[in-house]
Amino acid sequence: MGEKVGQLIDYIPQLALADPDAFGLALISMDGHRYSAGEADAPFTMQSVSKPFVYALALSVLGLDEVCRWVNAEPSGEAFNAISLERATGRPANAMVNAGAIVTTALIPDTADAPRFDRILDCLSRFAGRQLDVDEAVYASEVATGDRNRALAYLIRSTGLLPVDPVASVETYFRQCAVRVTALDLAAMAATLAHGGVNPLTGEAVVEKAVAAQVLAVMATCGMYDVSGDWLLRVGLPAKSGVSGGLIAAGPARFGLATYSPPLDPTGTSVRGRRALGALSERLGLHLMHNP
Ligand code: GLU
Repeated sequence: MGEKVGQLIDYIPQLALADPDAFGLALISMDGHRYSAGEADAPFTMQSVSKPFVYALALSVLGLDEVCRWVNAEPSGEAFNAISLERATGRPANAMVNAGAIVTTALIPDTADAPRFDRILDCLSRFAGRQLDVDEAVYASEVATGDRNRALAYLIRSTGLLPVDPVASVETYFRQCAVRVTALDLAAMAATLAHGGVNPLTGEAVVEKAVAAQVLAVMATCGMYDVSGDWLLRVGLPAKSGVSGGLIAAGPARFGLATYSPPLDPTGTSVRGRRALGALSERLGLHLMHNP
């Protein structure tokens, strides 16, 4: 693609092996039409794009008020991996930063007949409309290097707000981050949120309408970490980024969009993804606050 922009991340060594030139874009409409360009079928791991969907599962199981007892819904204005909890309550600021996502994952019930990770993978697969799997090499790579997230889990336990063992909760979080998808899968997942929780490809009601709206609200205010305000100002869509280069955006009642391009800017956002979605929003008038 000519001009070199952004950097591959290397704190999860396996992700540094990605093709820096790969670019895929996909859009799925509410009637299930799929539009794609570039490498929309190329596999990569979800990383933080998993967070809104596991948050949706926690909200479905426990309800908004109970989830908010553990994880707040305020923009943190900080990086995705900030070692930071709310001063007054000890809660993570929101479910989109690592601290909050570690708690959200830990809130998913774990029973003999339905282990926590199986429930998560099943839910992510329903959002995508097909059975997803785990990239074991990426999972192992993050297990080997994920001490910052382990530190966060121990810090959260010290406030009394981690309901399970810190090591176990982080291993499950790493596994959810290593679930393998394509840009088309992510577009289906975003489209399901935009479609009131009903997957437009399969017709399945994955989560309730109210839950889909709650997740989109938190994506709008917190999904892009410390550039969430700038993103809402300029692009105007609920969105979520991930450090493998995936990026989703949802147009409520209209579409789910996703891009894949691994080089990132310093905030952990795909550089080309940000540009592509920004350009699409401007050209097609997708900004939610615009009066059509
Ligand atoms: N697995 C990554 C981490 O916890 C996800 C971060 C991201 O995608 O923003 O560091």
